[in-house]
Amino acid sequence: MNQWIEGRIARKQHWSQALYSLQIDAPLPGFTAGQYIKVALDLDGERVGRPYSLVNAPDEKPLEIFFNEVPEGPLTPRLSDLEPGDRIWVADKASGVFTMDNVVPRRHLWMLATGTALGVYLSMLKTAEPWQRFERIILVHGARNTGELAYGDTIADIREAHGAAFSYIPSLTRDQDDTALQGRITTLLASGALQQAADADITADDSHLMLCGNSAMIKEVRDWLEQRGLQRHRRTEPGHYTTEQYH
Ligand SMILES: Cc1cc2nc3c(=O)[nH]c(=O)nc-3n(C[C@H](O)[C@H](O)[C@H](O)COP(=O)(O)OP(=O)(O)OC[C@H]3O[C@@H](n4cnc5c(N)ncnc54)[C@H](O)[C@@H]3O)c2cc1C
Repeated sequence: MNQWIEGRIARKQHWSQALYSLQIDAPLPGFTAGQYIKVALDLDGERVGRPYSLVNAPDEKPLEIFFNEVPEGPLTPRLSDLEPGDRIWVADKASGVFTMDNVVPRRHLWMLATGTALGVYLSMLKTAEPWQRFERIILVHGARNTGELAYGDTIADIREAHGAAFSYIPSLTRDQDDTALQGRITTLLASGALQQAADADITADDSHLMLCGNSAMIKEVRDWLEQRGLQRHRRTEPGHYTTEQYH
């Protein structure tokens, strides 16, 4: 059972039509990069909470979440209406095992995100651990249009700090842009365009993959990996990929 702590909106960022980040001042005890918190609002006499990955690194304040408004959803249309100073509830403990603790060190770490799943990787990439454990890290962000390619400044800071050890590959399904690949992550993986853009193969010997976002991407990538002998990582049986599904 969650205990709720009271938070206040410190800052709101509106990235594009339906895409927002909220920074929240709340005294959350420590967490591990990659974990999520539950946030809640009191709506019509009921406390409605949903999990959100933390975008900030564990040593950064305020807390930050990145979400898109789901028009028919109960919480997100209300979250996007919040303004600095407004109250929000935060569960008193972060949860989740989609962290570096469950990643097997190999040469290359691939981080595959659809939509708002980008945020969970930024938290991890702002910490030292992945850089100590991997020769290269390849962050792939699948979005519909250029407006959804958020956090450009944070990604530029990571690139500046880590140089050739870091590759960022955006891919777009609707817009065309010279700086992004065209198509869904799964299509680009199957055609080899993703590996070509990264200048790296995906193999059982070399790679660990993290998959986060919508269930269709996760399922298709998982099937593709398993056909090539890469297996889900389990604590008792080290494998090649880990997943976190948002919807
Ligand atoms: C572990 C975990 C971490 C999560 N972290 C994030 C996060 O960092 N950012 C984030 O945006 N969401 C995240 N989610 C999803 C989030 O918890 C909510 O489900 C989402 O924000 C919609 O909330 P809602 O109350 O408006 O609608 P809900 O009642 O939760 O969902 C309404 C409908 O929208 C679908 N849906 C849920 N999320 C999305 C989405 N992002 N895009 C399109 N359709 C969606 C659901 O499948 C459902 O059919 C996470 C989910 C899990 C399980």
